[in-house]
Amino acid sequence: MAPNRTSPNIIITGTPGVGKTTHAEMVAERTGLKHISVNDIVKEKECHEGWDDEFQSWIVDEDKLLDAMEEQVLQGGCIIDWHACDLFPKSWIDLVVVLRVDSTTLYDRLTARKYPEAKLQENLDAEILEVLLQEARDAYDEEIVVELQSNDTEEIDSNVDRIEAWVKQWKENNSS
Ligand code: ADP
Repeated sequence: MAPNRTSPNIIITGTPGVGKTTHAEMVAERTGLKHISVNDIVKEKECHEGWDDEFQSWIVDEDKLLDAMEEQVLQGGCIIDWHACDLFPKSWIDLVVVLRVDSTTLYDRLTARKYPEAKLQENLDAEILEVLLQEARDAYDEEIVVELQSNDTEEIDSNVDRIEAWVKQWKENNSS
C-alpha cells in the first residue's frame, strides 16, 4: 500500500540512553527529515496526566499525544524519537529503527544522567529483556523493523549511513 507522502516517517526507538536523540539529529541533518522529539511535545503541549516522582518522568496521555502529532506526521518526513513505539498507527510509519546497547555501557550512560535507582534498574532490565525490540516486532510488519547496535561512535556513523541510504531508496521507490 503506497502511503500518501513523498518523504518517509521513521521511528528511532530503544531504551533511554541508547542513542536515539544523537541518531535522530544526525539523520535529520543528513536527510532533511525533521527530528520530532516526543518528549518535547509531551512537555510543550501538555500531553500528560502529571509527573511520576519515583520514575522522574511524565505520565503520558497517549490520545492527546497522537492528536498533537498527527497533522505533522501525516505530511511525512518525520523522525520520531521516543522510548516507545507501539502507540503510533501502522499507517504512519515506514521504518522502525530499534537501537541496542550493551548493558554495562547503558549503565554508565544512565548513571551519568543521574537516573534514580528505580528508573535505572527498570531501564537496564528493559534493555536486557529486549522489551523495545519485542514491542516493535509485535506492532509493525517484520520487514520494516531494523535492530542496530549503538555502543560506540563508529556504530553511530554506520547506522546513520545506513538510514540515509534507506531514505534515498524509499524516495526512489515512492516517486511517481
Ligand atoms: P537517548 O535519546 O536514547 O536517551 P542519547 O542520544 O541522548 O540517548 O544518548 C545518551 C548519551 O549516550 C549521550 O551522552 C550520547 O552522546 C551517548 N551515546 C549515545 N549513543 C552512543 C554511541 N553509539 N557511542 C557513544 N556514545 C553514545
